[in-house]
Amino acid sequence: MTTYVETTVNEHTIALASDIRSVGALTLSEDPADIAWLYHLVVNDEWRDYYVVYVGPTTSDRLPLLPSVSMHTPMPVRIDSGCITGMTFGDKSCECKDQLDAAIQLIRSNGQGFVIHVPSQDGRGMGIDFKLKTLNKQLLEGQDTVQAARDTAGSHLIDRRTYHGAIACLKVLGIDATHALNIATNNPDKIAAFRNGGLTIAEETRIHIKPTMLTERHLQAKKEHLNHSL
Ligand SMILES: [Zn+2]
Repeated sequence: MTTYVETTVNEHTIALASDIRSVGALTLSEDPADIAWLYHLVVNDEWRDYYVVYVGPTTSDRLPLLPSVSMHTPMPVRIDSGCITGMTFGDKSCECKDQLDAAIQLIRSNGQGFVIHVPSQDGRGMGIDFKLKTLNKQLLEGQDTVQAARDTAGSHLIDRRTYHGAIACLKVLGIDATHALNIATNNPDKIAAFRNGGLTIAEETRIHIKPTMLTERHLQAKKEHLNHSL
């Protein structure tokens, strides 16, 4: 069933059509009773497919059963961009998989929360072909992630992701301004998107991943050029 969700894009309110296509049970530990839910949502924005992992109780319709008042522990929420090189093939030059694992651990220890995964936002929204070119420049020519992206784009456009679709997913799943959220991110753009999208940020959690020899420069470049926290 299509639901139209109001959200704010560049100070304009728009209605995004959002569909929950399916929901399935996952086990995140050896305990078969330790169930998490995976929702596939389709939103009519340019990113289209969204996968939301939810940990917590559900209604009989398999929708999140959310606290009815705002006086609860803020629910951890993370928006997670696709990274086929790191998450699927285990490339060690980025920390994406470690960040995803840390976010899932955070929501599991809290008992309730969401990770919204946006596969089409690979390469900071520039796409996988763009990203592979930047990886060549990083691994073969010694550039950092931001230099490589600027060099490949031929401009300063290095992050074209938007987050209103991810916020629409949360709204379709029942989150509104009465729910206190704990945003797990190092990226100031994501925090701004939640505030502009009319949701309540009660807490922010930085995801600290210990740098390796391969990721140290990558993390430092994100801090220096994209204002990310380490
Ligand atoms: Zn990555």
